[in-house]
Amino acid sequence: MSRVLVIGCGGVANVAIRKCCQVSDVFTELCIASRTKSKCDQLAAELQGKTATKITTAQVDADHVEEVIALIKSYQPDLVMNIALPYQDLTIMDACLACGVNYMDTANYEPEDIEEPEWKAAYEKRCKEKGFSAYFDYTWQWAYREKFEKAGLTALLGCGFDPGVTQAYCAYAKKHEFDTIDTIDILDCNGGDHGYPFATNFNPEVNLREVSAPGSYWEDGHWVEIPAMSIKREYHFDQVGEKDMYLLHHEEIESLAENIPEVKRIRFFMTFGQSYLTHMKCLENVGMLSTTPVEFEGHQIVPIKFLKALLPDPASLGPRTHGKTNIGCIFTGKKDGKDKTYYIYNVCDHQECYKEVASQAVSYTTGVPAMCGALMLLTGKWTQKGVHTVEEFDPDPFLDALDKYGLPRSENHNPVLVD
Ligand code: NDP
Repeated sequence: MSRVLVIGCGGVANVAIRKCCQVSDVFTELCIASRTKSKCDQLAAELQGKTATKITTAQVDADHVEEVIALIKSYQPDLVMNIALPYQDLTIMDACLACGVNYMDTANYEPEDIEEPEWKAAYEKRCKEKGFSAYFDYTWQWAYREKFEKAGLTALLGCGFDPGVTQAYCAYAKKHEFDTIDTIDILDCNGGDHGYPFATNFNPEVNLREVSAPGSYWEDGHWVEIPAMSIKREYHFDQVGEKDMYLLHHEEIESLAENIPEVKRIRFFMTFGQSYLTHMKCLENVGMLSTTPVEFEGHQIVPIKFLKALLPDPASLGPRTHGKTNIGCIFTGKKDGKDKTYYIYNVCDHQECYKEVASQAVSYTTGVPAMCGALMLLTGKWTQKGVHTVEEFDPDPFLDALDKYGLPRSENHNPVLVD
């Protein structure tokens, strides 16, 4: 029996909300709140009569902490699920602290405006100290650790697939398969085809920022940064086949390096087709990925926001996307004094997702873990206070919930390793 406030009503939130409504005995009441209320109303209307969960909707601009506080005070939820954008993480965390409510999200904080002086100064200091230059990192949200602990509240960060399930896979490997882990390779493969020459399968602005940034990995206690897309490997993915994949910086490397300090190397690879890479390079070269406003016919335009308006809405890719995703982690390490390798992953079919929740697999593989993470907090399976990432909690009930609600694990005790 719980009341949950979901902020955001985009591709990922749509899946998370539909999945919450399949577990009405836990998610008894749900308020869907977003900047554009009509989208919340439309989803609520679609779910009407199909779930026992009592759904209400609200308008909120989560960039403004007072608006979020007012909404939390009027709705009185047990948990706030932030499934808006990373830009709203800190305002929503502030509002949760002010109102004494648990918090969770699916991506770590990054600012909308990277020219903002206070953020820029901290960013430049962090680049020098830590040695990676992605715009997003955990320092902003980890700064809330003491506040959440003192308030007796939990903030669960990055509970999608990657970040999210990938860290639960790491915690599971550490708990059940290894005494010590030496290396972790996280492999994110999307073998789906939507038929467009170029489209992103989640928020274009966040996605393009992520993949156009320099790559980096963790090795022997420090970051190694490389030019974007400069390390390429081929890998044969179960149920998908052979794909090119590229080393990217990814946020869970930062928390895993802190929480499993014995690991000597952590890398993240994502698959991309040549058409995607060529389009992205071209858009970058002409300045369309810039977040700095430009003057155009008397208006201020942010190029990447304008590009977002031109690209297909990720939420609309569902009916067109065929094929499968395969995301997981390959480990090397030791058990009982012997060398060992282990691969744990999930395969998800785009069309199966569409049939179930009217969405493609990228939103599905993010929205289902968000629901399962909320389930862990609401049913008292995960109770640690403070600000935590997924690998800090018991992976067993979470992976069991994923098995049950649509993202079952597969295992391979003799995987091909990535060189
Ligand atoms: P979308 O762009 O589809 O949806 C974002 C939603 O947030 C929209 O409903 C939007 O409203 C709303 N929103 C934006 N700004 C505000 C605001 N100021 N106040 C209130 N609501 C706002 O994004 P996705 O669903 O694709 O992604 C959601 C999150 O999931 C992102 O943080 C993304 O980084 C993360 N993600 C995580 C993954 C993982 O594996 N961990 C993988 C994929 C995504 P409006 O309709 O008005 O624009």
